[in-house]
Amino acid sequence: MYRGRFAPSPTGPLHAGSLVTALASWLDARAHKGQWLVRIEDVDTPRCVPGVDQTILAQLAAVGLYPDEAPLYQSQRGAAYQSALDQLVAQGLAFPCSCTRQDIAQALAAGGLVRQRHGELVYPGTCRHGLQGRNARAWRFLAENSLQKIPFQQQTRGLYAIYSIAPQILHWADRRLGAQNQNVSQTVGDFVLKRADGLWAYQLAVVVDDAAQGITDVIRGADLLDNTARQIMLQQALGLAQPQYLHTPLVLGAQGEKLSKQNGALAIETGCPVAVLQQAGAVLGLAASPNAETPAEWLQQAVPQWADQHLKIRA
Ligand code: GLU
Repeated sequence: MYRGRFAPSPTGPLHAGSLVTALASWLDARAHKGQWLVRIEDVDTPRCVPGVDQTILAQLAAVGLYPDEAPLYQSQRGAAYQSALDQLVAQGLAFPCSCTRQDIAQALAAGGLVRQRHGELVYPGTCRHGLQGRNARAWRFLAENSLQKIPFQQQTRGLYAIYSIAPQILHWADRRLGAQNQNVSQTVGDFVLKRADGLWAYQLAVVVDDAAQGITDVIRGADLLDNTARQIMLQQALGLAQPQYLHTPLVLGAQGEKLSKQNGALAIETGCPVAVLQQAGAVLGLAASPNAETPAEWLQQAVPQWADQHLKIRA
């Protein structure tokens, strides 16, 4: 049974780019006669804006996109993330790390390796075989005394990182972009699963939830393509099924810049919903449906078009 999802982070209302993703995931679910779910990714609580989840759901409803089940909130899913992390630790695939950003920068500089990726330092493996970072003693004390409160919020990189074994070169096929690969060890390095402040990292939360919700197809913006290899690695490590992936084209601003919640705000509720759908559909290569007067009519006409373009690729 096909199950798709749209997984917005409630850090601001939907913008033109996120609406493209929502529409694509809805169309793909309908074209496959499957179910479409909405998951509110409110795991990074400090960045979430209270009430924005309701704004997003209202924006989706305004253009006729209604989820088939009640939305799942990641803020309610801590126990599931913890048990996935426990499993990885028990398998020796994840380890605690007590490094500060400065520790990491110094270790890299000492090894003559200042590798940067999207402004992030590639973790040099410092704590893989036991805590070595500047806070190691304090961390050990906390662990031995099972104290829950972690006092290093501002200083540490992350409580747990996944230990990427040997060179992990992942190959997978994106339904739109074709063959993909990434050498995770070299280009990303060990990555954080749970932050020192107790917040769950996106990579772990998304993998656990996609599996728990039985998601067969992940349709999302191409800006997230780069996360896919890490997510497949986690699926493999946790023995979870691997969904198929389709990354949609990005909507760029007038200057070719990436749209953000700040510069790309889209007043879906106040605009004409059919025009909003039309615009999002054009990004996905869908022809205009000039006769559609309501969102429901527009969507109905778009489903066969989407099916023509994308069903064969999945098969
Ligand atoms: N919550 C993520 C975002 O809003 C999307 C996650 C996903 O689709 O995998 O960018």
